[in-house]
This record gives sequence, C-alpha cells and structure tokens, in this order.
Amino acid sequence: MSGMLIVISGPSGTGKGTIYNAVLKIMPDIATSISATTRAPRGNEKDGVEYYFLTNEQFDEMINGDGLLEYAEVFGNKYGTPKKRALDVVEAGGKIMLEIDVRGARQIKSKFGDCVSIFIMPPSLATLEARLRGRATDSEESIVRRLSEAKREIAESKYFDYVVFNDDLGVAVDEVVSIIRSEGLRTFRNGSKIKKILDE
Ligand code: ADP
Ligand code: 5GP
Repeated sequence: MSGMLIVISGPSGTGKGTIYNAVLKIMPDIATSISATTRAPRGNEKDGVEYYFLTNEQFDEMINGDGLLEYAEVFGNKYGTPKKRALDVVEAGGKIMLEIDVRGARQIKSKFGDCVSIFIMPPSLATLEARLRGRATDSEESIVRRLSEAKREIAESKYFDYVVFNDDLGVAVDEVVSIIRSEGLRTFRNGSKIKKILDE
C-alpha cells in the first residue's frame, strides 16, 4: 500500500462526524469516501452526495460483486465502503479517510494491516448520553440502544491503533491531525522517496 487508508470510528454520538469534518478542513488533500447504505435519505440528503442510497437488493448485489471494502449493519440499516475508489486513491499514493462503525473498522484493519485506525472515545458514558440527547436526532429508545451498543464498542477499542479522547474538540482534532502527520513519516510509507535519494 503506497498511500494511507485512515479509519475514524467509535460509538454513535462520540463526535466522529464532527472531528472528521474538522480534520478535512485542516488537511484538504485527504480524499473522502461516499458510503453505500440501505437507509432512507434524511432531510436534504441527496444520492451520491452524503451516501449512495440503495435498496436491499442493490446492496446485496454490491456485496456479491465484491464491490465493498467492508460492510456492517448499523442500527437496522446496512452501510458499506465502495471498494474501487478507496483502493484507487491508496494505490495512487494518496490519503483517504473513512468514517465508519466499529465492526466495519475492524474488517478494514484485518484486510489492510497498514491502515491507520483511530478510535474516538467519549470522555465518559454520561457525556456520551448528553451528546446524543443534545444532538436531538434520536428517540429515547434509540438513545438507550446506542448507549448499550457503545459499551460493547468501547471494549473493542483495544483493536485500534490509536485512541483519541474527545473531551475538548480542538484538542481531539489536533491529535487526529498529529497522528496522520506522524503516520506519513513512517519509514515504510517513504520507501520511494528514500530510493530516489539513493539513486541520485
Ligand atoms: P458521531 O458522528 O460520532 O455520531 P457527532 O459528530 O454527530 O457524533 O457528535 C454528536 C454531538 O456531540 C453533536 O451534537 C456534536 O456537535 C457534539 N460534539 C462533538 N464533539 C464534541 C465535543 N468535543 N464537545 C462537545 N460536544 C461535542
Ligand atoms: P448515519 O445513518 O447517522 O449517517 O450513520 C450511522 C452510522 O453508520 C455511523 O456510526 C457511521 O459511522 C456508520 N457508517 C457510515 N458509513 C459507513 C460505512 O460505509 N461502513 C460502516 N461499517 N459504517 C458506516
């Protein structure tokens, strides 16, 4: 793998989406991936912008055609990362960042050991609950479900390369940016640059 596949994951409401968008503003050279999903569009969401909105049959066709890098069922809907774009970016030496659930992140890590996986940790379960309530997008039942799922997901944080505690947002964003910059300096990611110098 010559580029970098970055995976941002963690429980629902932990701040993944907020951090993902803030990091992209600071590092605009990082490519993004549009996921496929079977969930219905919300509000102004458009097909091919926020997600590729697919029927269950279309999603299964993508799985059967080996078109997904990973996929998982998240709170009753299927979500998956289209394979071709992500691999094209990485093979061309670029960076691509995914914001996906914990099971999907573990699938990516098992297939691509060189990917950079970052678990966004809430400072406490009480804070996570407050953020889910503050976001005001979920019903009471859905909040209870997300909190119990969060405990299971936090237990899986040990399988990730890094953990970033999202207490102060600015600090958490800085930490993710630092991780990406440091990972870019790993010797194994700079083989071709080093070879060029030796070949002078
Ligand atoms: P996720 O993508 O993990 O489900 P979001 O990015 O939607 O989570 O964040 C959940 C809620 O918490 C949002 O309302 C967001 O504005 C808020 N939030 C995110 N990070 C912080 C933070 N560090 N401090 C306070 N609120 C935060
Ligand atoms: P939402 O429906 O709120 O947009 O997303 C719900 C959850 O699905 C989020 O936790 C998000 O990280 C996850 N998700 C979005 N895209 C993908 C994907 O391609 N693969 C996996 N495994 N999870 C995804």
